[in-house]
Amino acid sequence: MSGPLKPETTAVRAGLETDIAHGAVVPPLYLTSTFTFEGPGQKRQYDYSRSGNPTRDVLAEALAQLEGGAGCVVTGTGMSAVHLATTLVRPGERIVAPHDCYGGTYRLLSALHRTGRAEVEFIDMADARQRASALAGGARLVWIETPSNPLLRITDLATVAAEARAAGAVVAADNTFMTPLGQSPIALGADLVIHSTTKYINGHSDVLGGAVISRDEAMHQELAWWANCYGLTGGTFDAFMTMRGLRSLHVRWRQHQSNALAVARLLAGHPAVKRVFYPGLEADPGHGLASTQQQGYGAMVSVELAGGSAAVAAFLAGTACFSLAESLGGVESLVAHPDTMTHAAMEEGARRAAGITPGLLRFSIGIEAEDDLLADLGTALDRASKATN
Ligand code: PLP
Repeated sequence: MSGPLKPETTAVRAGLETDIAHGAVVPPLYLTSTFTFEGPGQKRQYDYSRSGNPTRDVLAEALAQLEGGAGCVVTGTGMSAVHLATTLVRPGERIVAPHDCYGGTYRLLSALHRTGRAEVEFIDMADARQRASALAGGARLVWIETPSNPLLRITDLATVAAEARAAGAVVAADNTFMTPLGQSPIALGADLVIHSTTKYINGHSDVLGGAVISRDEAMHQELAWWANCYGLTGGTFDAFMTMRGLRSLHVRWRQHQSNALAVARLLAGHPAVKRVFYPGLEADPGHGLASTQQQGYGAMVSVELAGGSAAVAAFLAGTACFSLAESLGGVESLVAHPDTMTHAAMEEGARRAAGITPGLLRFSIGIEAEDDLLADLGTALDRASKATN
């Protein structure tokens, strides 16, 4: 073959045919905590699974390749991946982060600030003046989450990364919502890519996991050292399951996204809806930027219902194809109420400042039949209209 493999092929074929014992096509699951030494002081490639495990390495290598990084640390959860990135920051150093990032990331960063472990400033990343003033005094870490959770705001990765690097910062981009197939933050200037692999990469809502991919080898080695030291590395069985999910990501991703566009269009045309947040709609303020820095628009859609909390209650009273649950990226469609669920960890004032209102619903659009999703949503929206008229 000439030329590099396409990402879809990399995901499907990662680690295949590497079993030297029996020629298994799929790489075996090394479900062991420890490995024998050949003799005293004579360690093999692996000695203990917290430090390294062949099954976890298959996933790490696949994710590093897909993101175009030098290396990847696979962690136990997405939050342990976020935590791992923050180990680069020492007390007194600054982190600049978006005020509308995932609630768990917001909770961690605010706690680091409150307890004196770092100086953290939350800003509106879309506002060039706020960025300039936050970066004026330098920063060690700049956090980007695009599209943001739950309002799907788009941050200009190349511009913010260039500004942050000029201020001497390491740039970390949470790519959970777009997956490595939909957006390449390293190619746009990021130093680190963060994933909650719990979401699309595993894709079946049955495993927790995370990943930190580094642009350069030295930073990867530093993070791998801390991951082992703190015990943040992911479980072997979870890595096996996640790799199994990753192999079909491109097929799921296509269906997720086409369903999401259909859902966003239906929502945009319904009188119960005040506003739809989906960068795939031409009217969305992030559409232009998303079209240049993303391949596709993802499958998260948020909506503000005109009738506020009463409409939300009526909407949620009996959906057939949308389970009321946190999380996202599984094959099944979910609906969440960020104000009381995913973003409840933020103080009320911070939620309102970030635009999270009581009437907001966030959908993770699954891969069910489009018609079924649209019919179910139509009924729920009609219920919301009746409850508030
Ligand atoms: N980053 C984003 C964008 C998320 O949505 C989440 C979880 O919802 C996380 C990180 C944290 O991931 P986990 O729940 O796997 O710890």
